[in-house]
Parts: sequence; C-alpha cells; structure tokens
Amino acid sequence: MIKIKTAEEIALMRESALVVSKTLGMLASEIKPGANPLRLDKMAEEFIREQGAEPGFLGMYDFPNTLNWSPNAQVVHGIPNNDELKDGDIISVDCGAVKNGYYGDHAYTFAVGEVAPETLKLLEVTKASLYVGIREFKAGNRVGDVGYAIQNYCEKAGYGVVRELVGHGLGTDLHEDPQMPNYGKRGRGKKFVDGMVVAIEPMINMGTRRIKQLKDGWTILTADGKPSAHFEHDVALIDGKPELLSTFQYIYDALGIESDEENELRNALSTTSN
Ligand code: MG
Ligand code: MG
Repeated sequence: MIKIKTAEEIALMRESALVVSKTLGMLASEIKPGANPLRLDKMAEEFIREQGAEPGFLGMYDFPNTLNWSPNAQVVHGIPNNDELKDGDIISVDCGAVKNGYYGDHAYTFAVGEVAPETLKLLEVTKASLYVGIREFKAGNRVGDVGYAIQNYCEKAGYGVVRELVGHGLGTDLHEDPQMPNYGKRGRGKKFVDGMVVAIEPMINMGTRRIKQLKDGWTILTADGKPSAHFEHDVALIDGKPELLSTFQYIYDALGIESDEENELRNALSTTSN
C-alpha cells in the first residue's frame, strides 16, 4: 500500500533527507587515497547523531554499520572495513538517517584521486540517468515510465542495468511501496499522485547487468568484476511535479565542483506543464 504524505510530513522528510545530504558532504572532503572506511563510518554516525537523528541503516535487518560502502565492482550494500581507499578507486556511499520518525536515504559514487576516463563516464551517465528518471516522476505517469527512462538512457551508453535491486517509496519505513525499478515499460505500474515520496536510485554496471552476492550475506557485486555506480535522491511529488528533498550541493561545495544539474531540473520543470 502506498502511503501518501501530507505537506507537514514532506517538510519533515526534507529534514531527514538533508541530514543525509550534509553527511555525504562531510564525507566528500574525507574521501581520498588512504582514507579508512571504518573511521569514516564512525564519523558519519557521530555526524548524524549531532544533527538530532539516528543512523538509518545501523542495525536495520542487522546491518552492522552506518554507511553502505561499495568500492569499484561492488554495486551496493558493501560493509565498511579497514581496506583503505586507493588512487583510482570509485566508492559508492549510501547513507540513511531517521529523524522525527521519517527516513532519509540517498547515495553518491565518488571518484578517488585519478580515475580512468571510462570509469568517470560511468559515473557521469549514471548520475545523469538519475535526473532523467526523476523528470518522469510526475502526475499521470507511472512507475514504468521512470524505469523505462533510466534503462533506455543507460543501455544506450552500453551499460548494464541491475534488475534485482530497485528504488522504493520512503517514509516512516525505509522501504515502502511502490518499488521503483530502474527498468520497465512506459505506462505500466502504479500511477503517481501528489504526496508520494520515493527514493530513485539507478545502480548501473559498466559491463554485464548480472550480479552476485558475497558470503557476508550483504555485499552485491558485478558478476564480471567491472565497476558499478549508484546515485540516489529522495523525491516528493508536489503539485504534479517532482521536488528534490535531498541535494548533492554539500558534496559539490566540499569538492569545489560547479554543477547546475539540480537547478536545471527545477528550471525544466517550471517551464513544462503536465
Ligand atoms: Mg540508499
Ligand atoms: Mg534506497
């Protein structure tokens, strides 16, 4: 059952999403060659608590840490350990926080030092596909429209779109209805209505879409060992249009990156009608 949120609930959810956005921003300046994952995980936990929130993933289904830490060929659900980051790595960091009873849940894949151009392209395309998907989260559209848009965009670039893991509704539970696959058919699935809040999160592989799981029962990695990227935003449907609750701006500020993608999304939405 899809739980529709009131404006007051969405305001609280924006707070929760921003706890995560700020945490990823804090981590952005720490992510470099030599960084210790477990130390960063502890920093993230403390940073979340300082904001009056609780880590959203710690203890959820018995997950042992605050961050999902998934380097290189790991897709999602990796567990932080003592393997220091190396120059040329990519690291997907997924973070959850719960505040006032509502979850924030979003993710970013960072480049560590000098990363191969073909891997940087995977990051660019995956991030762009997130916004391509978000634009389809609008009144009258359906779950399949978002999935189709992401799948089409990424497959055109020759990438594999993971099937087994999907985005989701978000609220007082981390995973609510509807499921939001990154693949699908136009016009299929649940219809979007105002008050829905979802996490849209393309998980895109440079090679095969097939995945496997480590014996730790958590870590998902690509079947061919090629890199995978993951970007996630929390998005509410308001007045028929998608509105970002999370932001990558804290990351960009930390890294000195100029990016207009979030403004471009807002501008595109303000000039189009439904
Ligand atoms: Mg997530
Ligand atoms: Mg999620």
